Amino acid sequence: MNIRVDFEFEVKMPEDRANANEIFYASGKIMKEFNKMLLEQIIEAYQEQIVDILCTRSGLVAKKGLGKHTIKGEKSKLCRGRTFTRSGYWQDERCLRGEFGSMRFRPAMIQCSKCGKRFTPVLAALELEAYQGKTDSLLRMVTESVAETSYRRGASQLSVLAGVPVCKSTAHQWAASVDLPMSKSGSVPFLAADGTGFKKQGGSRGSVNLVLELGKDGGVRPLGVWAGTSWEAMSKEIKQTVKDGQYKLLLCDGERAIDKWLGKFAEKTNRGHWHLPRELKYALWGDDTTFEERKDASESLRQLIAVEIPGEDIEAVKESEKNELHQRIREAEKKVEELQQDFAKKGYTKAVTYLENAKGRIFNHLHLWLETGIIAPHTTSIVENIIRELVRRLKKIGWNWSDEGATRMGRIVMIRRYDNSTWEKYWRDKMNLRDRCKISIVKCERKMVA
Ligand SMILES: [Zn+2]
Repeated sequence: MNIRVDFEFEVKMPEDRANANEIFYASGKIMKEFNKMLLEQIIEAYQEQIVDILCTRSGLVAKKGLGKHTIKGEKSKLCRGRTFTRSGYWQDERCLRGEFGSMRFRPAMIQCSKCGKRFTPVLAALELEAYQGKTDSLLRMVTESVAETSYRRGASQLSVLAGVPVCKSTAHQWAASVDLPMSKSGSVPFLAADGTGFKKQGGSRGSVNLVLELGKDGGVRPLGVWAGTSWEAMSKEIKQTVKDGQYKLLLCDGERAIDKWLGKFAEKTNRGHWHLPRELKYALWGDDTTFEERKDASESLRQLIAVEIPGEDIEAVKESEKNELHQRIREAEKKVEELQQDFAKKGYTKAVTYLENAKGRIFNHLHLWLETGIIAPHTTSIVENIIRELVRRLKKIGWNWSDEGATRMGRIVMIRRYDNSTWEKYWRDKMNLRDRCKISIVKCERKMVA
């Protein structure tokens, strides 16, 4: 279809004087109205054309893709009827907001001659959801603004960028409707997971769990964010994109549930070192020990596990140095074993169980380095910081939605920040831009009027 829309602007300067500021201001002001009117003209013409095709011409070619509907009274069965009659307009206007402003129109109804259903064909032709009141482009803008900044800044940015300001609660509602999928897994050696609980607005407890992929170079890719979901349930979802044993190492803190449910995705698990002495202290406290005993035990464990990877590349490390490192690991492992036996003699059952669970995982990052030269990133600095930042953002945004809403918001924040290609792809697919509407200015001339 081809539409011509004629506009004529009138510019008045009654005293023949205006400065540049006044002229620019007046021109900018009229642009918003101009845009609204142009949009309304185009969409009305488009709607007329679609209704016209569906109600007058016969033949399925012209109607290709238009007028699809489910049989009247049925939920999913498609009707094969393709002859329609006009059936009036909606009583209320439909408002559609976009990046540069909003427009209103009254959707036209048609009726199927076969099943009698009345419906609005222009909405499907515009690729709009039933109650969608804004363009995907505006949704993207609002979502990015909510994800990236505190809303105070976001709000003022929006009112400047978008023709119509979007208020905070609306922006949050919109953003929480964006349902990003869990990311597809890439080919990197490390899986990292962490979870944290915190106080939601209103005082109830919330929890957020984060699963990341980490590259050798410390590059981060979020695999998923979940709120109020068990590690067991998450593991089932992750299984859809991740193979068992796909990663060299699972990096996580002391939480057993992570190891239990995500451990199978990696060849080995390494528990974060920084937790061990503190957790041993806690276990010993459960065994009714003295303060001194706990302090000594946790200090000796801290020293035992302090075996570092040499600073050089593995190729540069001499065979003798590697053997020495092997030796040190074996000794340290033996001493952990002795510590455990010592606790057993004293009847410290909780501490024994703790070390029993921990000991097979303390030096996995060293074994991995010796075998492959791959250095596992320090999860302390990466995963913990990321999850802290995520929770901080979510709190700031105002986390008072359901766990489902929080899960969505968490994914938005993470993917926006760490996975730009997934972010771009999501919006590209959603917006379905195929350059099917082109607008050009065919005439621009002026004349002086009396
Ligand atoms: Zn029908």
